Amino acid sequence: MARSPQKYRVKEVFYDGVVHVIFFDGAHCLYNYWELRTGCTCAKCVHEVTGEKLLDDQTVPLDIRPVASEYVGNYGLRIDWSDGHGTGIYNFQQLRDQFPHKTQSVD
Ligand SMILES: [Zn+2]
Repeated sequence: MARSPQKYRVKEVFYDGVVHVIFFDGAHCLYNYWELRTGCTCAKCVHEVTGEKLLDDQTVPLDIRPVASEYVGNYGLRIDWSDGHGTGIYNFQQLRDQFPHKTQSVD
């Protein structure tokens, strides 16, 4: 298996009101909690076959926040959310290329 390019490898993740993801190529991306939670692509939130969204965004509290997270292999991040949901894996490539985010320069 080929090594993922640096832009899809993650050096550090932390959260302090938003989720910060620092990639190996130096990019520092910030993700809104609610957008990340409602963008979950697990089988409970998105139908595996049809791709239809099963999650009703209205059911996700506006004050949603991560309570824990862990790396999944070297390709993704699993987040336990304050609403009890924890089956979603956020693939780093997806985070980098598809999820809406802001960027911040690393000092
Ligand atoms: Zn989910």
